[in-house]
Amino acid sequence: PPAAEPAYLRSLNAPQRDAVLTTDGPVLVLAGAGTGKTAALTARLAHLLWTRKAYPSEILSVTFTNKAAREMRERVGRLVGDAVEGMPWLGTFHAIGAKMLRRHAELVGLQSNFTILDTDDQLRLLKQLIQAADLDEKRWPARSLAGLIDGWKNKGLTPADLDAGESELYANGRGQQLYAAYQDRLRALNACDFGDLLLHMLTILKRERDVLAQYQQRFRYIMVDEYQDTNSVQYLWLRLLAQERKNICCVGDDDQSIYSWRGAQVENILKFERDFPGAKVIRLEQNYRSTPHILGAASGVIANNSGRLGKELWTELDAGEKVKVLGVWDGPEEARRVGDEIEACQRAGKSLDEIAILVRAQHQTREFEDRFIAIGLAYRIVGGFRFYERQEIRDALAYLRVVAQPADDLAFERIVNTPKRGLGDKALAKVHQLARREGIPLATAAARILDTDELTPQARRALGSLVGDMARWRSMAGELQHPDLTRQVLDESGYTAMWQAEKSAEAAGRLENLNELVRAMEEYESLGAFLEHVSLVMDNENAADEPKVTIMTIHAAKGLEFDTVFLAGWEEGLFPSQRALDEGGLASLEEERRLAYVAITRARRRAVILHAANRRIYGQWTSSIPSRFVAELPGHHVETETTMSGGESLWRANWSERADPFADVGRGTGRGPGWQRAAGTLGATSTGTRPGGEWTSRTFTREPQRVVESRASAVS
Ligand code: ATP
Ligand code: MG
Repeated sequence: PPAAEPAYLRSLNAPQRDAVLTTDGPVLVLAGAGTGKTAALTARLAHLLWTRKAYPSEILSVTFTNKAAREMRERVGRLVGDAVEGMPWLGTFHAIGAKMLRRHAELVGLQSNFTILDTDDQLRLLKQLIQAADLDEKRWPARSLAGLIDGWKNKGLTPADLDAGESELYANGRGQQLYAAYQDRLRALNACDFGDLLLHMLTILKRERDVLAQYQQRFRYIMVDEYQDTNSVQYLWLRLLAQERKNICCVGDDDQSIYSWRGAQVENILKFERDFPGAKVIRLEQNYRSTPHILGAASGVIANNSGRLGKELWTELDAGEKVKVLGVWDGPEEARRVGDEIEACQRAGKSLDEIAILVRAQHQTREFEDRFIAIGLAYRIVGGFRFYERQEIRDALAYLRVVAQPADDLAFERIVNTPKRGLGDKALAKVHQLARREGIPLATAAARILDTDELTPQARRALGSLVGDMARWRSMAGELQHPDLTRQVLDESGYTAMWQAEKSAEAAGRLENLNELVRAMEEYESLGAFLEHVSLVMDNENAADEPKVTIMTIHAAKGLEFDTVFLAGWEEGLFPSQRALDEGGLASLEEERRLAYVAITRARRRAVILHAANRRIYGQWTSSIPSRFVAELPGHHVETETTMSGGESLWRANWSERADPFADVGRGTGRGPGWQRAAGTLGATSTGTRPGGEWTSRTFTREPQRVVESRASAVS
């Protein structure tokens, strides 16, 4: 009887319940945006705990962001109370990978207190190696090598696994050699990069049978959200861990696969059934998030993609407002209009927390920031210009890393002459030489060189006092609370004084940031835990909890929802991005279109799409035309407004003049290319009725049926 049902089941529909109650065996939930996939996964976690099918420590739950992990923890906490305490294996792939790797670091030649490098450190290291290999860094940039190495790691390839073709991608076949050198160097530094967190663990799981068996035993249940965005190394990892018990539940949506540039493979959805025969495939079709107009607009756009698995979506919500398409003159006007609209929302009693601005590219945020600062509108940037990436924060963290991790050469290099201590390049070169000769960390070399007569008296004094300080800080680390230790380190090193001496507003801001850093640390039990947090999160959550508008990229908005969403910069060259257009190919354009689908489906009640006629790009004004995705919005779900006279007819004319580079690429629908269809869809009607709710879309009936069926049958 429903009354006796636990709370977490009560609000779920039948297929969601199925996903929750089918605890054993492989389960794949394949469903569109807002259908309650994450909600079902959360309930499933609650169910496993509530029915005591597993201890919290026996469930591996992978979320896409740290924020999502936090939310899931809170939601499960509300559903089942304290049982959620100690869910050590709930987090992102990276967080879980880091935790596992710390337990087995020695198996890949690291110590358990290894440092996790960020991109900056990674690049610095690669530059050194490229120089040492006598390569011209201008011709073979460190960034390219970093990209390749990340790609290899995403595919689960160690240097030994690379074939000649892969190696050929850098410096005429020297890719493999440099990758290997990089890995050696990381090991010597007792460090790893993000890719290593998973790659090293994969190596261990493949090689050490007892370790694998231990985890296969431990994880009674495995659950994965946003499964469509897993890459190969993550997939291989999951497959190994789930092989024994096969209690794995993945939820995802092929239409929301937006991370192929990071190696994500939507094919993993198809592989699931092959690797886990007899998997139960569950489809959710009722959308609880968005109004029919919003869903209809999103479905109309995504219907232009080919080779989709095919899903139906419907909702019982009221039609609501049409999606607004707003054409403005230029970027500043776009920001002004959005600011005005948000203030109107505020006056109508809406919370700023329920409003988001989603952009395609990071640089788009600045225009909004400028405007919001001018009008005093509270905002937060998520995943953008991050607190932990600011110079003073990086410097302070480098000091702490040197204290926590004496072998961290990169951190040592960063602080050795910051603030200026009168250590010349010559003196530092000598320290480097000694370190290389002896194969010891720089900090150790700095201490040893004091016993020689290699340094000038001045350099010797300066270095001697730093070495003495570092030794003292390390010894204090045991006694002092880490926030106090941090204050002391920053004061005694002269770092705080350096900014105090500079009497500018900027320096004052930096000092405030340093204070904020110490405040942030107070939430962590140890310096090590804090440094780990910084490496993983790199995300500036505001301390004050006043409501704020959220500004973020579409990529960062995955899985989230807001009442009102502003979608800025829907123009050719911005969205779809110029890069996607230049690289050409249907695949990159279709990934942009999936981004458009993700963007629209973040909105619950109201979506406003903006496009500007003029943009300043690299300091030059250029005129732009609205995105093809605007043209793909079904006319009866949108309401257009333009602040320019003749705006709309102008851009429609524009579209029909342009040649569509994809007109003849693998569509085979017999319909015309984008701009012709745009005119056709205006006023067309695909909304019908069905018992118990309104059809908002039957997205894939607009695609060639044959394609959809064959892809779909591979799964269901
Ligand atoms: P996305 O694809 O964007 O990640 P999702 O499928 O994970 O979406 P959720 O975020 O889980 O969807 O749910 C969307 C919204 O619908 C949430 O506000 C959630 O609380 C609500 N919801 C989910 N299931 C139900 C249900 N059975 N009854 C009522 N509301 C529900
Ligand atoms: Mg979700």
